[in-house]
Amino acid sequence: MPDDDSRFVIIGGGLAGAKAAETLRAEGFTGAIALIGDELERPYERPPLSKGYLLGTEERDKAFVHPRKWYAEQRIDLQTGTPVTALRPGEHEVELPGGQRLDYRKLLLVTGARVRRLDVPGAGLPGVYYLRRIEDADALRAVLVEGARVVVIGGGWIGLEVAAAARRHGAEVALVTLDPPLERVLGPEVAPVFADLHTEHGVRLHVGRGVETIAAADGHVAGVVFDNGDALDCGVVVIGIGVIPVTELAEQAGLEVDDGVLVDAALRTSDPDVYAAGDVANATHPLLGVRIRVEHWANALNGGPAAARSMLGQEVSYDRLPYFFSDQYDLGMEYTGHAPPGSYDQVVFRGDVRGREFLAFWLSDGRVRAGMNVNIWGVTDDIQRLIRSGEVLDPSRLGDPRVPLAEL
Ligand SMILES: Cc1cc2nc3c(=O)[nH]c(=O)nc-3n(C[C@H](O)[C@H](O)[C@H](O)COP(=O)(O)OP(=O)(O)OC[C@H]3O[C@@H](n4cnc5c(N)ncnc54)[C@H](O)[C@@H]3O)c2cc1C
Repeated sequence: MPDDDSRFVIIGGGLAGAKAAETLRAEGFTGAIALIGDELERPYERPPLSKGYLLGTEERDKAFVHPRKWYAEQRIDLQTGTPVTALRPGEHEVELPGGQRLDYRKLLLVTGARVRRLDVPGAGLPGVYYLRRIEDADALRAVLVEGARVVVIGGGWIGLEVAAAARRHGAEVALVTLDPPLERVLGPEVAPVFADLHTEHGVRLHVGRGVETIAAADGHVAGVVFDNGDALDCGVVVIGIGVIPVTELAEQAGLEVDDGVLVDAALRTSDPDVYAAGDVANATHPLLGVRIRVEHWANALNGGPAAARSMLGQEVSYDRLPYFFSDQYDLGMEYTGHAPPGSYDQVVFRGDVRGREFLAFWLSDGRVRAGMNVNIWGVTDDIQRLIRSGEVLDPSRLGDPRVPLAEL
């Protein structure tokens, strides 16, 4: 355990940062903790921003990781609205706006990710929205209303969840994507489940279309124009085309960066006293044997604490399997594992795919690499066990709902 008079600094006031601070105290660290975030709000969780909070079914307050007073009670020096401007590992210090310096003994980078911007004429017009921060959700809540004409650009998780929320609010929704929705994540076998879901709920899909311009009338969004000249009229455009890890501080500090801050299985960067976790970390995964950068809630929830334990000198090998979830209309799903298109050779379904109550397994060489449960719950542990075991399975038994997962 480091000395009581040493300071640990956490840069990034998101879920990973808040959970790391919590873990440092829970593990008995009594020194100073500075948790520095550039957003005005204290740490909050982002999933509700495209689900319950956007739908208006969940209170704003429910999104916050801890009550405001918790930080003072835990002697965590939470500084919001404070973008860290420099990290100097050689001097063990960070620089804050105005030139103030703060020294550290150990430092955690949890600067997360920012939205990828669409680079077309008109993308900066009023009426164009992105969704990452709570104020983005506030702005969207005001415009996703009955009768609004909305174009969502991007067929990933955020685009689809926004489309679902907009439909629930009675908006007319068109979804514009280059690839079929979610195909680049789930592959062509499973992705159509989501395209069908949205079509059935009245979303008009425009697949294979690039947006060339966002058109204006009276200084406000009036439509989108495709690369073949076709156009869609609308008053709201929501862009969800992915995120980019926030690595500037790490790069300037001379840390190794390649699609995120590179860390080992103990979440250590190339500097022995600097760690990284959450969306910004590109980590060596001890079980999967590859580097992965995971942009999901559970990785912030578990990775922040793992980094904190590592900072305290504990033996850490962060081998959590990637996990994420989504809710759209009446479909709830969880995905566990790592099987991007190109890495698997077989998909096995189990259950009622048309009725949207099923499991899907992605296999390579007969081994389960990932599993997804749709409107079936309590199976994540079983799916994890199947992946971790690395055993070659009989696909017909895997796909047979009469064979309990526990017996596979
Ligand atoms: C709308 C939305 C819905 C989502 N839904 C799901 C879901 O259903 N399931 C799921 O698994 N995942 C979901 N995610 C992803 C999940 O929220 C992220 O994986 C998670 O937020 C990552 O947490 P983080 O702490 O690593 O980074 P972030 O949440 O990005 O937090 C990093 C913080 O650091 C701040 N920061 C950056 N640079 C500096 C600096 N120089 N100084 C100070 N502060 C800085 C950033 O502004 C930010 O506040 C969703 C994300 C969004 C946006």
